[in-house]
Amino acid sequence: MIVPTPMSTRGEELTRMREDLRRALKKPVEQRRWVMVINTKRCTGCYACVVACMAENGSPPGVAYRRVGEVESGEYPQVARTFMPTNCMHCENPPCMKAAPLGAITRRPDGIVALHYGKLKGKEIFERVSKACPYNAFSFDDGRFYSQGTPAPQLYEKAPTFEYEKAWVRTTGALPIGTARKCHFCLHRLNAGMLPACVTTCDGGVMFFGDLNDPESLVSKLLRTHQSITMQAALKTGPRVYYLVDDTQAADSLKACLACHR
Ligand code: SF4
Ligand code: SF4
Repeated sequence: MIVPTPMSTRGEELTRMREDLRRALKKPVEQRRWVMVINTKRCTGCYACVVACMAENGSPPGVAYRRVGEVESGEYPQVARTFMPTNCMHCENPPCMKAAPLGAITRRPDGIVALHYGKLKGKEIFERVSKACPYNAFSFDDGRFYSQGTPAPQLYEKAPTFEYEKAWVRTTGALPIGTARKCHFCLHRLNAGMLPACVTTCDGGVMFFGDLNDPESLVSKLLRTHQSITMQAALKTGPRVYYLVDDTQAADSLKACLACHR
């Protein structure tokens, strides 16, 4: 069952998460613990979060940091359709980091798993880290442009993007072309006092973001007052993306989703 979010309620949620963010930014970075909480019961499968993420990161063809899986479960007339947004889980114990060359993938003190593009160049490294990640989080930037074969590149393709707080202008041959890419929890936006693009764009109010070290934050409250699961918990990667599951049907639907996310 989809539980719609009244706009005023979502407005209140966003205001609260922005206040949580401001509070977290006043603390030393190592005292912040960023997490994302996802309520799939609100997701209508509109893909607005995917588009927002691509716009924020200037994603070229073949590169997507977010995906929305879809699964049907049950038997008529007791059927359910579940949409499951996913991105990098920012694991506490990231298998991708172990598979990467030294210093190419690091865990920041706030828990964000960061890529260092200069050390991640090449398809072979991409294949290694991609195989190590249980969550299909990586894409390879093979240098294509959406305007390829048209008279001129589009302005958005030449505009800088700001992953890891550096300006990247993706001209022919320049980084991050030729590297593995993935979600960075919108670090550049967080440090500017803004919530991740996928969180603010979602009309359904599916995604929540904040500091789990702050007991007053909305994400802390949600995880205290609802049951939740993480993807493939048995692997002990320590995902920092939590899915709310308040009833058996939701849990069953999510388990069906998880069957494809291996
Ligand atoms: S989800 Fe994948 S890419 Fe992200 S930290 Fe975990 S192993 Fe690495
Ligand atoms: S947090 Fe930012 S980079 Fe990660 S999926 Fe959302 S919009 Fe994309």
